[in-house]
Amino acid sequence: MAEGKQQQGSSPSRGSGKRRQHIFKVVLLGESAVGKSSIVTRFARDQFDQYKESTIGAAFVTKEVVLDEANTANLHIWDTAGQERYKSLAPMYYRNAAAAVVVYDITQTASFERAKSWIKELQRQAEPSIVICLAGNKTDLADRRTVSREEGSGYAATAGLLFFETSAQSGENVGDLFVSLAQKIPWSAEPAAA
Ligand code: GDP
Repeated sequence: MAEGKQQQGSSPSRGSGKRRQHIFKVVLLGESAVGKSSIVTRFARDQFDQYKESTIGAAFVTKEVVLDEANTANLHIWDTAGQERYKSLAPMYYRNAAAAVVVYDITQTASFERAKSWIKELQRQAEPSIVICLAGNKTDLADRRTVSREEGSGYAATAGLLFFETSAQSGENVGDLFVSLAQKIPWSAEPAAA
């Protein structure tokens, strides 16, 4: 894992091992406090900080996942760094993104409604090839659930999205989400180097 500020996107290049390395920009979207940066922290560092208040602040974190015997994906995962408080995100945020994870909190119906509007914005404004995953987070708070699994998966199926329910706290499904997402990204859709 590393942090950096360079722009993402490149053609496949040789990694240090035998596999070819593909660099993909992945953006997280969703209402404030749904757990976006906690999901990134869980995935990149396998940690959870219950008292965390702000987003990670870094431009992005990177994490490598193995695609197959010959290829790896180097995911550059971008957090909104608080931009979600504004009416819409700067299109620069998701420009050249190969994939997006739109997160809601299964205990906050309003965050599910907001997730749907982020998805519509992405489908209107982002690269047509973008792979989108809808993530219902905080499954460890099952007793406070207000959005059923069926509502989430039903919407995702209708809109043509991947779907996972996750817990950044327990780690449930966080790794699977990013691996599935990486495997869905078409290599030919990789953006050219900025
Ligand atoms: P962001 O604003 O969307 O980036 O959300 P944060 O990652 O900052 O998380 C907001 C709050 O929700 C923090 O207090 C986190 O500890 C908490 N949180 C995030 N993910 C989970 C989760 O899976 N389960 C529980 N119980 N709390 C979570």
